[in-house]
Amino acid sequence: MTLERVLAAPGLPSLPAVAIRLLEESRQQDVDVNRIAELIASDPAMSVRLLKAANSSFFGFRGEVSTVNRATALLGAGGVVSLALSFSLSDDALKMGRTAEAYRAYWRRCVVQAAAAELSTDLPGEGGTGGRGATPAKGDRFLAGLLCDLGTLALLKTCPAEAAALWSDAEENRLELSARERAEWGFDHAAVGGALAARWGLPEHLAATVARHCDTPERLESAIAGGSLPASAVPLARAAVLASAVGDHVCGADAGPALGRLHHVAGTLFDLKGEALTAYLEKVLERADAAAGLLEVDLGQIGSPGDLLAAANEHLAELATRRAAEADALADRHRKLEAEHRDLQQQSLRDSLTGLYNRPYLVEALRREVSVCARTGSTLGVIFADVDRFKAVNDTYGHAVGDRVLRAVAGAFAQVLRRTDVPARFGGEEFVVMISRPTEAGARAVAERLREAVAFTCRSVGGIEVKTTASFGVAIAVPLDTQDAADKLLAEADAAMYEAKKTGRDRVVLRCLLSPEEQRLHAAVAGRRFSRWLSASGAIPVRDVGAALTDLTPPDSPLGALARAVGVLDEIQTDMIADVQQPGERFGESAVRLGLLNSEQLADLLARQQEDPRALADALIARGHADRAEMDALLEAHAAAGPSFAPLDPNLVSA
Ligand code: GH3
Ligand code: MG
Ligand code: MG
Repeated sequence: MTLERVLAAPGLPSLPAVAIRLLEESRQQDVDVNRIAELIASDPAMSVRLLKAANSSFFGFRGEVSTVNRATALLGAGGVVSLALSFSLSDDALKMGRTAEAYRAYWRRCVVQAAAAELSTDLPGEGGTGGRGATPAKGDRFLAGLLCDLGTLALLKTCPAEAAALWSDAEENRLELSARERAEWGFDHAAVGGALAARWGLPEHLAATVARHCDTPERLESAIAGGSLPASAVPLARAAVLASAVGDHVCGADAGPALGRLHHVAGTLFDLKGEALTAYLEKVLERADAAAGLLEVDLGQIGSPGDLLAAANEHLAELATRRAAEADALADRHRKLEAEHRDLQQQSLRDSLTGLYNRPYLVEALRREVSVCARTGSTLGVIFADVDRFKAVNDTYGHAVGDRVLRAVAGAFAQVLRRTDVPARFGGEEFVVMISRPTEAGARAVAERLREAVAFTCRSVGGIEVKTTASFGVAIAVPLDTQDAADKLLAEADAAMYEAKKTGRDRVVLRCLLSPEEQRLHAAVAGRRFSRWLSASGAIPVRDVGAALTDLTPPDSPLGALARAVGVLDEIQTDMIADVQQPGERFGESAVRLGLLNSEQLADLLARQQEDPRALADALIARGHADRAEMDALLEAHAAAGPSFAPLDPNLVSA
């Protein structure tokens, strides 16, 4: 549907000859009232309606008006022509069939808008017109309000099916009519009405008013500023915009938003607010009642301003609820999309054959973890695995079986590893697992479990006895935060794996890159001790706890007694160590210097040593890592956790 097609349609309403001649006559310089009365008298039907109207309560003339001449004298030329025009708009053919309801609604709205436009003359903002044209007479305003929706009549006559369907849709979905029309057709009834009014030869200001009655105050102002609205039309157009907003409020489907628009229009164009607006609406409804009699329109059920307000508020509440539901649905959809996005991302991180992570992901994860571990002084482990004599599997059973073996290896890995480990297919028949915060023994244990799982799982694949094993290299370090730390760790694990190959395959070789201090520290934190709890809880960085721990041992350390108790040193040796201990040197350090203990033995002793939580707390305070109050709170929390607090990471508990 296009505007051109509507305007070219044969059913387009036309003005009767008498109305056209009345219009011409009324536009003369000196309007001849007698000539106008004559013209009306020439149309009996129009004469009858005019007399009826003149006698209606709308005008409230005293005594009966019995002749057209008298009516014309009382109503004035303008009033008579207005009435004649409005009578011409009624169309009995539309009162029946599918157009009946829309036609009735059209007239109800016309009457309300006519009353609203007419009464705009009394409004506060109407005092001066800002030099934008003479203040129009009440009758002109009434006619403008009445003609506003001329386009609706034209649409009803030219394309009743489309128009009725769209209007009932707007009604059902409680939408603003003109917005709905523009969305569906690209033009609205105001555009149709404006074009038709111009074609009928109605005065320019009236045609322009019809065309602009659905405007917002802002659009109206910019049309005025841009000169696209003749100055003579400005007061009438403002009245029509207000009338249209009142029409929407009283007759429209979108009660809630319509009320908002009415407040905006009335406030912006007429400074009409609060009680003054309510009083105006009350008068409009009263006046509409009288006008309904004049024009023989059934107004039907129109509530009081209070009823209309209640309906609008109810609609607003309903809209708010719906909007909240829509927002929920939107958030839901958003979450789903995000999940899909994550899945897709995951897919790009995965190896398609085995479902394990792929090499780029592993390398990236390793880089990230290196800097975390460097910061916290935690250990990082890499396990490098290579399937033994895999070429032979391919050669003997074919590539497909080889692929199945690789999947079985991945399956074995999945069984052994925890969620925090990162297993990846590194390439071909090579796999790499990153494990965070392992102890040396823990890392070795994980690799051993992987080795056993592969050997067990891959005894037969798809009913074929393949007896697959793999060789494992493990590297563990507290990495430095350097560019090549991840690559170095990988290279160490790879080298360890080659050593495993060289020394018989199906075995684990471990390279521990921890310094003796680091080993000591990590052995110590492996115990279920206050130090371990402190570092696991994240309250104090591992490095600081470790340093404070070493403070606890010398010089009056019970380490010598412990060493004797476990039998790594005898009494003569511990006495000798005490003798050679230099000022500030620790017992353990002296023992290592003398070659009486190796660093593993020292770490073991430190791990067995149960430090006094209060002493550790004092050492930490002395080193400035915490203050007394913090430490007291931590000691209390540690005591509350009790002796049975679970180690956070099973790998930290050494075998
Ligand atoms: P070693 O015990 O020394 O590791 O012997 P190997 O045979 O496993 O070592 P080599 O590196 O010589 O052989 C690796 C083989 O793995 C060669 C290659 O064809 C095979 N391979 C690599 N990627 C795939 C794959 O995706 N699917 C299959 N089926 N085979 C693969
Ligand atoms: Mg290989
Ligand atoms: Mg291999």
